[in-house]
Amino acid sequence: MEKRELVCVACPLGCPITVTLDDNNNVTDVTGNTCKRGDAYARTECTSPTRMLTTTVKVEGGKKACVVPVKSSVPVPKGMMMECMEAINKSSIKAPVKIGDVVIKNILDTGADIIATNNAE
Ligand code: SF4
Repeated sequence: MEKRELVCVACPLGCPITVTLDDNNNVTDVTGNTCKRGDAYARTECTSPTRMLTTTVKVEGGKKACVVPVKSSVPVPKGMMMECMEAINKSSIKAPVKIGDVVIKNILDTGADIIATNNAE
């Protein structure tokens, strides 16, 4: 049995949460959360943690050399963040770029699209 102490990041309150796991890494108890979102966050964080991915990608053919900020459409598995970052670093998007343009669809089969969050001419 193991107990993990987390701070919920699902809202600004930041409730301290204690998660109890059995020897097979199954969550057996969640305490300290004040709502269901905290329970869901704690269970996911201890069994299959995910993170929103934000970075920049190169823009080609624009008026000047630049990059555009991008983010994942949904959280990606925490263990794949570096691989996803490498794939994004090797890619580029042609100008002009509009907010919401998909830079990479279903990156590394995670189910997340990499989407531009700003315009670039
Ligand atoms: S447990 Fe609920 S109230 Fe507490 S930080 Fe998480 S989302 Fe917010």
